[in-house]
Amino acid sequence: MTSLVIVEHDNTNIAPVTKNVISAAKKFNVGIWAIVIGHNCLAVVEEIKSFSAIKKVFYIDNEIHKDHLAELHADQINHFIIQNTNVDTVLMSTSSLGKETIPRVAALQNVSQISDVTNILSANEFERPIYAGNLISRISSSEHIKLLTVRPTKFDAEINNEGNASKEVISCIENIYKKELVTRKHTKTDRPDLGSAKVVISGGRGLGSAENYLNILGPLAKKLNAALGASRAAVDAGYAPNDYQVGQTGKIVAPEVYFAVGLSGSIQHLAGMKDSKIIVAINKDPDAPIFEVASYGLVADLFEVIPELTSKL
Ligand code: FAD
Repeated sequence: MTSLVIVEHDNTNIAPVTKNVISAAKKFNVGIWAIVIGHNCLAVVEEIKSFSAIKKVFYIDNEIHKDHLAELHADQINHFIIQNTNVDTVLMSTSSLGKETIPRVAALQNVSQISDVTNILSANEFERPIYAGNLISRISSSEHIKLLTVRPTKFDAEINNEGNASKEVISCIENIYKKELVTRKHTKTDRPDLGSAKVVISGGRGLGSAENYLNILGPLAKKLNAALGASRAAVDAGYAPNDYQVGQTGKIVAPEVYFAVGLSGSIQHLAGMKDSKIIVAINKDPDAPIFEVASYGLVADLFEVIPELTSKL
């Protein structure tokens, strides 16, 4: 049997999470195929070909896929599965595109999808978090095909790239949808990507304003080459953009070091960062729940200690 990895990319570079998904696919101990759907995406195909875990790369290079719409991806993946009955597992990351695409494939295949997998115990047994990560549920599936979204931070990103897989172009199916992308806005930042940064500095409501958020956390993030993150309260108050949110309804991160600055540590926030290797909490309230998960805790006023820390680095 064969596992199929759906490659996520921007038509030029693969998204780092794809490496974690390949590591997850390796756990099935069967051949791994990859599929690249995009436009002018041959650089991505070449990069995937070099991953030694991959046996074969299939690709569709067509203008209708330039914006990576989930409906079109799902139809294309479903078509591929129908034509290749040896594929018994499909994996994609728990990214926005993965969460939009895999349920559609599941509906087309009339099977249940298995979401946000954090561990693969066997070919049909999986673990996934429930209740904001407070419980881990063990799932057994007898579906003819397993459609998984996997949590990238739970799988290794180290991939051997000395391979040379074969590649095959496949035909593009017809676009039956009337949907088109009107605009896509990217938050411009010179900071590393939040999902893959080694150091993340997150700010909460304690920062008090968007100016404080940038003026206090920005210089520290620059010195540590860190990504900036935020609690939902900080995002809702307009201190930071939406895509900075860490937590149950935001991004799941697991960096080497996570700074939690002026945020209380609600269970919804912890759900997105408690797997970080080192957690440094700075909060003026000694009873703040964030201290329960912190490796290092500093009970202090952030407006005094963060500039002091930054100046000493
Ligand atoms: P607060 O809880 O108000 O904490 C502010 C902290 O700052 C306090 O602990 C205070 O002591 C400290 N502080 C204030 N001034 C200073 C100072 N000068 N120096 C040092 N410390 C100071 N939240 C998320 O973060 N991510 C999610 O994904 C998310 N998803 C949610 C999903 C659902 C369904 C629900 C219901 C809620 C969700 N929330 C999420 C919201 C969550 O419940 C909390 O409301 C939110 O995390 C609180 O943000 P905060 O810690 O910044 O604010």
